[in-house]
Amino acid sequence: MASLHDVVVIGAGLAGLRCATLLAQAGRDVVVLDAADEVGGRQRTDRVDGFLLDRGFQVVNPRYDALARAVDPADLDLRAFPVGVRVVRGGRSDVFAHPLRHPALLPATLAGALSGLVTARDLVAALRWLGPALVGPASVAAGPDATLHDTWDRLGLTGPLRWSVLEPFLTGVLADDGGATSSAYATLLVRLFALGTPGVPAAGVGALPRRVADLARKAGADIRLEHAATGMDVRGDRVEVALRGAEVIAAREAVVAVGGEALRELVDLPTPPMRGLQTWWFGTDAGAPASALLVVDGDRSGPIVNSVVMSRTAPAYAPPGRHLVAASCLLDSGADERAVRGQLERLWGGAARGWELLRRDDIAHALPALPPPLRHPSPARLSERLVVAGDHRETPSIAGALVSGERAARAVLG
Ligand SMILES: Cc1cc2nc3c(=O)[nH]c(=O)nc-3n(C[C@H](O)[C@H](O)[C@H](O)COP(=O)(O)OP(=O)(O)OC[C@H]3O[C@@H](n4cnc5c(N)ncnc54)[C@H](O)[C@@H]3O)c2cc1C
Repeated sequence: MASLHDVVVIGAGLAGLRCATLLAQAGRDVVVLDAADEVGGRQRTDRVDGFLLDRGFQVVNPRYDALARAVDPADLDLRAFPVGVRVVRGGRSDVFAHPLRHPALLPATLAGALSGLVTARDLVAALRWLGPALVGPASVAAGPDATLHDTWDRLGLTGPLRWSVLEPFLTGVLADDGGATSSAYATLLVRLFALGTPGVPAAGVGALPRRVADLARKAGADIRLEHAATGMDVRGDRVEVALRGAEVIAAREAVVAVGGEALRELVDLPTPPMRGLQTWWFGTDAGAPASALLVVDGDRSGPIVNSVVMSRTAPAYAPPGRHLVAASCLLDSGADERAVRGQLERLWGGAARGWELLRRDDIAHALPALPPPLRHPSPARLSERLVVAGDHRETPSIAGALVSGERAARAVLG
């Protein structure tokens, strides 16, 4: 009979790794299993022809409290994007940048606002939407909630600021172009964008889970990759996890941290609705656009919801003399290369012609949907021997995954 561990954690994404770290630090004998050949789950980075390609464009916001509890953000060597966007609309290109962070862009930001993109009615409505989150985030999190679409309609946020700036921007962040997401969540997220300095680790987003895994190992957790769980049985005082091509592993408790789409194979929980994203990665020659700002298409003239020259912010993402551009779409937009290239030329100008397509990431289960209300019961403990973790239990984000890992660890430690 195999030895009996205190806890088996299934899934070495951020949720499972954070949970395993806390359990190992509390002296538990923890084994972590993951089907993949590397830790990180949805957060991975591959080296392709000298470029660093994350599995889908994503950013790390050091403002997340849960991030700072899990790692020292300084260890990630974060490269911060400018806090703002460039909006391409009606043949114009306007900049909206954080006035305090980028005072040099203030004249351009004011010119953009006065160009008709920001009406007085939209501005007042946007402040009524965002204001409560800026002054009292806790009460927004605990307060009444509705969909983003209904909230903006109610507040009268119905003009170009919504259509050409907020909707395209948040479509990329939430993977939702219908405004079905919790307004409370969206407003808290925008608050963190405004207050934080979102960026990417210099070595790619995969550096974050690798760092959490280092800390878990240091605390004594045994992380076993290429160990796919195929089933679980609770027998008396133990949980037995069946593995593909390896011996059964037994533990007093199991934490299931497999990601929403894989839950049902192991536990009796419904599959949470998930939203898909697609990122196209292009390599350019040295003549890439100089701006590091994220670009959104204010005309919504094609499938791309945002695009950015990654290597203007994080130079190691591209080999010397070249640049890396990300262009993200909703997975169900049905984007084809012709449409993507055409829109890239509208967003970036003729420079985009001839960019080399390096890879396309189709990620069907990128983010769990988060309809209102933001606060919904999602207990970590399922039964005496089973605990669950993952962003689908909290919010669709790095912070959500980390917080769910913390909650799962607390449930085990009782
Ligand atoms: C394209 C994209 C963009 C994103 N952008 C952002 C962003 O900008 N900011 C942000 O905060 N968040 C973003 N996110 C979300 C963030 O990456 C996730 O919320 C977080 O990584 C989820 O972590 P997790 O541990 O809950 O799940 P996962 O990362 O999915 O981990 C689950 C793990 O379980 C393993 N597994 C599954 N089944 C089994 C099995 N049977 N046996 C063993 N192992 C198994 C998987 O291999 C995986 O490693 C983005 C995600 C994507 C995909």
